Amino acid sequence: KTFEELNLHESLMKGIYSVGFKKPSKIQEVALPLLLSNPPKNLIGQSQSGTGKTAAFTLNMLSRVDPALLTPQAICLAPSRELARQIQEVVDKIGQFTDIQTHLAVPGSWSRGQKITKHILIGTPGTLVDMLSRKGTIFDPRQIRVFVLDEADEMIALQGLGDQTVRIKKMLPPGVQNVLFSATFPEEVQRFAESFAPEANKLFL
Ligand code: AMP
Repeated sequence: KTFEELNLHESLMKGIYSVGFKKPSKIQEVALPLLLSNPPKNLIGQSQSGTGKTAAFTLNMLSRVDPALLTPQAICLAPSRELARQIQEVVDKIGQFTDIQTHLAVPGSWSRGQKITKHILIGTPGTLVDMLSRKGTIFDPRQIRVFVLDEADEMIALQGLGDQTVRIKKMLPPGVQNVLFSATFPEEVQRFAESFAPEANKLFL
């Protein structure tokens, strides 16, 4: 399989080539057609880091965001600020030929009363809960179309992060595409994944 066969926007193809990817990794080859299908379907994927999962969910977010709407339309949560920052770098690089912009939603990255006009929020759960508790003054949650959870097992292992993710999900509109990646699936993570992403396509490589 090639990236050309995935019907990605031309600006995203440029982004892919500029980061030096020649062909999709195994997980990208399988996950991308599932992620990009319409109507959007939830996805639960097993993947270690190093497999190319970040680019897979990044290409999906970039494909589903309308740059003309100056409001967040995708949220990606990670268990640490450092990982969120790394994901933002990937999104910014692959999206560099689009008009799509990202906001790193970590503590100290936003201020009360200031609307966020960037298209993709990448951050940690606590900060998103804070933003959303401001009743739509920071951004309108009804415009969110994609919700990605990276390293769900780590998220659940860290006190409170799983609960915060559930709180965030409750504030998003129905019809959001929920995407969850985790390296491992012990019972607790599996249960969490099923409720986070009901009726999902499942990908265990
Ligand atoms: P990840 O699993 O998302 O942490 O990515 C692991 C590494 O693989 C990163 O350094 C990516 O830049 C690289 N990578 C991801 N997709 C591809 C691809 N299709 N071709 C070559 N390298 C890739």
